[in-house]
Amino acid sequence: MPDIKVLNPHAKRGGFKHAIFDFDGTISLVRAGWQDVMNPYFIDVLAATPNPGSKKSITDCVRDFVDYNTGKQTIYQCIELAGEVKKRGGHPLEPIEYKETYHALLLERIDHRLEGLRSKTLSLADCVVPGSFELLGAMRDRGVMCYLASGTDEKYVLHEAALVGVTDYFDGGIYGAQDDYKNFSKKMVIENIIKENDLHGDELIGFGDGYVEIENVKEAGGFAVGVASDETGEGRLDEWKYRRLEKAGADIIIPHFLETEELIKYLFEE
Ligand SMILES: [Mg+2]
Repeated sequence: MPDIKVLNPHAKRGGFKHAIFDFDGTISLVRAGWQDVMNPYFIDVLAATPNPGSKKSITDCVRDFVDYNTGKQTIYQCIELAGEVKKRGGHPLEPIEYKETYHALLLERIDHRLEGLRSKTLSLADCVVPGSFELLGAMRDRGVMCYLASGTDEKYVLHEAALVGVTDYFDGGIYGAQDDYKNFSKKMVIENIIKENDLHGDELIGFGDGYVEIENVKEAGGFAVGVASDETGEGRLDEWKYRRLEKAGADIIIPHFLETEELIKYLFEE
């Protein structure tokens, strides 16, 4: 299993009935490069405050809180930003306003991908983590109910899932962030899935490239697959994600789903 790193060989496998997937970076690459939009924007906001501090201190600060909140809804990064503006003597905007500006900048950046998918000049395979369709198909073949849970606004998740052609795999539903952000979290989605289906933890498997979903799945007693995708579509292992996923408690870590057969054999102990 050259590309499957087993960190917890004793984790219980084989009996999975429900699978929760993160979307961005785990299945979809439509939003790849979002950090290169958020970080410079946030750095500019902090640089414009009365007491910004050094360029390096702002850059480090933004990188830290953006990383820390990755996987939660975007609004949490914007709430942190507003707090940092205040600390530097500025008058912050409402977090939702930072979120709207960020999102407009992001859409500009990814528009060529959305347009390419709409006009079919871009292939679906170029916009998903390599092997995604094969893995989702294999899970479906084994009767595993799949759910998509994302920190991106639900309307965008629904739209982008349809664009990259994965909607039909998620019989369990597609869940994204709500405007009423306090009443949504991946943790709640996972807890609801477990409650509604009377699941035992070891029937649950989760796939994600961020620590939030890995932690949530482990807390629920499930098996966590860390996806350290480098988001270029070439399927290299992202070292930074690897270290975070390891720390979060992933049971195995993979860079992509291309070795679908080996992965499925391992997961289902076939
Ligand atoms: Mg992700």
